[in-house]
Amino acid sequence: MNRFDYAQAHDGAEAVRLGSATGARFLAGGTNLVDLMKENVERPVSVIDIQRLPFAAIAELDGGGLRLGALATNADTAYDPRVAERYPLLASAILAGASPQLRNRATNGGNLNQRTRCYYFYDTATACNKREPGSGCGALGGVTRIHAILGASEQCIATHPSDMCVALAALEATVRVEGPDGERTIPFADYHRLPGDDPARDNTLAPGELVTGIDLPAEGFATHFTYLKLRDRLSYAFALVSVAVAMKVGADGRIETARVALGGVAHKPWRVPEAEAMLVGAMPSHEAFAGAARRLLEGAVGRGDNEFKIELARRAIVRALQQAADGTPQSQIDKRVA
Ligand code: SF4
Repeated sequence: MNRFDYAQAHDGAEAVRLGSATGARFLAGGTNLVDLMKENVERPVSVIDIQRLPFAAIAELDGGGLRLGALATNADTAYDPRVAERYPLLASAILAGASPQLRNRATNGGNLNQRTRCYYFYDTATACNKREPGSGCGALGGVTRIHAILGASEQCIATHPSDMCVALAALEATVRVEGPDGERTIPFADYHRLPGDDPARDNTLAPGELVTGIDLPAEGFATHFTYLKLRDRLSYAFALVSVAVAMKVGADGRIETARVALGGVAHKPWRVPEAEAMLVGAMPSHEAFAGAARRLLEGAVGRGDNEFKIELARRAIVRALQQAADGTPQSQIDKRVA
């Protein structure tokens, strides 16, 4: 680990000022950043401790939504009664991620900003355009089991590892940030980015910008939802494929709204509006769901080890849509480990 300066920020403005310096990194729960520093992947010049900033509350919004503080822990968010009741899709996704110990420490802002778990990104003996721009991509031609099948580039085929973000994409949350030019909000779909020819950048934050909160809209899809996560073992593993579905079903049984976000398959949560539009007005059926799955996976490309993900994702999408339509969600809210 390299030497670095350490500073505590006492308010948002101070954090932004300190965080705007070249080579600065914000430290909250530290569950990803500290690992990366120990592996010599992240070599910050300065670490700005933001743990004492007043962004840990979960608060009601005018109009019926909820504001999740960026420094609220993942556990406190998932087990907040308002999140559990009104946004069970989000609670389920958070509880499908990491381990109880990590969720007790990891923050919501950190969850958004966590880095890929691409093996080569962590291995400083290999080439990686995300870690060292221009050095190449060790995953191309390497072991690709956890890599992207959608939206990748010749520069990078990494996936975003979060479960929480897949649900936030389906819920159409808004990210609140504070930066050198003041405050702004970013629609969740625009927060993370595809790798293109600049894979070092995971998101659309400008230098020095700090995530302060995440706003959930009033509609939480608490009746017809599911978060289906498929992974190599039952807990404490990243998704090979995950599917968040938020759905509304009318009194006549037809689908009024369907949102489908995929995790584990791309550099950001993957949504295809045209696939969702295909479901509006349809009666829930295997055929309708299979059609939407085909559209969602159009353009999917496997590279060796991860080719199985295309079929896995197709089946997972159909199953998740069926579960959501049936109203048989998979909440784990009663399983809190204190
Ligand atoms: Fe690096 Fe991306 Fe290639 Fe992984 S897939 S080695 S993160 S450039």
